[in-house]
Amino acid sequence: MDELGRQIAISKKDLPTLSDTTMVREALDVDKGQCQRCGSLFSQEKHFLPNGNYYCVACLQFGRLTNEDVLLSKEDNDYQQRKVCFDWQGTFTPPQQEIADSLLKNNKKKQHSLVWAVTGSGKTEMIFPIIQQVLSIGGRVGITSPRIDVCRELFPRIQQAFPEENALLLYGNSEEKYRYNKLTVCTTHQLFHFYHAFDLLIVDEIDAFPYEGNQQLRFAVRQARKPEGLYVYLTATPSQSLLAEIQETFAIMKLPIRYHQRPLIVPEVYWYEHWASCYQRKWKLKKLLRLLNELLQDNAVLVFCPSIAYMKKLYAAVKAYFPPELIACVSSQDEQRKEKVQAMRDQVYRVLFTTTILERGVTFEKVSVIIMGANHPIYTKSALVQIAGRVDRKGEFNGGRVVFFLNQQTPAIRMACQEIKEMNKLAKRWRTNAL
Ligand SMILES: [Zn+2]
Repeated sequence: MDELGRQIAISKKDLPTLSDTTMVREALDVDKGQCQRCGSLFSQEKHFLPNGNYYCVACLQFGRLTNEDVLLSKEDNDYQQRKVCFDWQGTFTPPQQEIADSLLKNNKKKQHSLVWAVTGSGKTEMIFPIIQQVLSIGGRVGITSPRIDVCRELFPRIQQAFPEENALLLYGNSEEKYRYNKLTVCTTHQLFHFYHAFDLLIVDEIDAFPYEGNQQLRFAVRQARKPEGLYVYLTATPSQSLLAEIQETFAIMKLPIRYHQRPLIVPEVYWYEHWASCYQRKWKLKKLLRLLNELLQDNAVLVFCPSIAYMKKLYAAVKAYFPPELIACVSSQDEQRKEKVQAMRDQVYRVLFTTTILERGVTFEKVSVIIMGANHPIYTKSALVQIAGRVDRKGEFNGGRVVFFLNQQTPAIRMACQEIKEMNKLAKRWRTNAL
């Protein structure tokens, strides 16, 4: 059973006759003490079975790998020119065009790329030409993101642009079964099932949780690409550590201009001494209520909260002041998550309390945002920039505002505000040069 195009684990005892092109690797590299699927170091002393075999404890969720197992993979490396049906009616803005062209050039030069494109700049479309280029020389393309919702949102757009590719979407509980194909969209977790598989591996929202700082996922991203294959990383908010890591090996391209050409909304930073306990007393809550009423004159409001428990208490306290059908809260634990997000999109709700689940990958028209406790450690620089980026993404300008409530200044807040202003400056220069 050597399945084409992905990596499978099998016991040495059950090893079938293999074709010449199948790669066979020990699942656990004893010399290095390293699992070859997830890259974690294992301990022969700590994690062993009654029969004396040992196993990797780090990637148990994908099935137990022991020293009795091997990893098989077989790739179709028969590159044949072919015609790829590409169906996209949109047009690029000049800066988008420039980046799309650079990606094509980098591909020819065999150079990895990072596209640092501000929120709402339309970064997905910019990868279409390079996808087409790689597919048409018979290459295999993977598009991956740490976030399931990002993958789900990307997939139909990819399918639409490449209608004859029969693209595949893979994530933890996805309905679709694996089949070999040239165009795969999957979560970074699914990359544990691929080895030297992709000629082009595009990683969207590379800075998002849980990828950032997760050594296993980084290992998976490294292994899934063919040795001569290329990376394109996409992000609106690269971390300092990512930039440092890739500055020698990647071309870094900045796109500071949003699709509609307006600047990013700069956060307004306000002191809120009692934000953490404001749901307890009306006098503490007043500041939030006053701002909500002000913002609601023009837009609906997303209120970001640092934890689910806090969100629920705050929601319960604020609810009393608004008609119940206009106000709601949503978190990752919410079974009606999808429906509620849709209701917010449809402008049914006027106020939606939420956690960082809505920090990225979603677009609402006519919203302002408030961050309660922007100084909370859950809000990294990236998270703050992303949340601010929810405002004024689409349609006509509607006076959307971004408000950070805090009772302590943090480096993340300072850096986020600074980065937004710098991108706006860069965009201004770009626009002046274009005239
Ligand atoms: Zn492992």
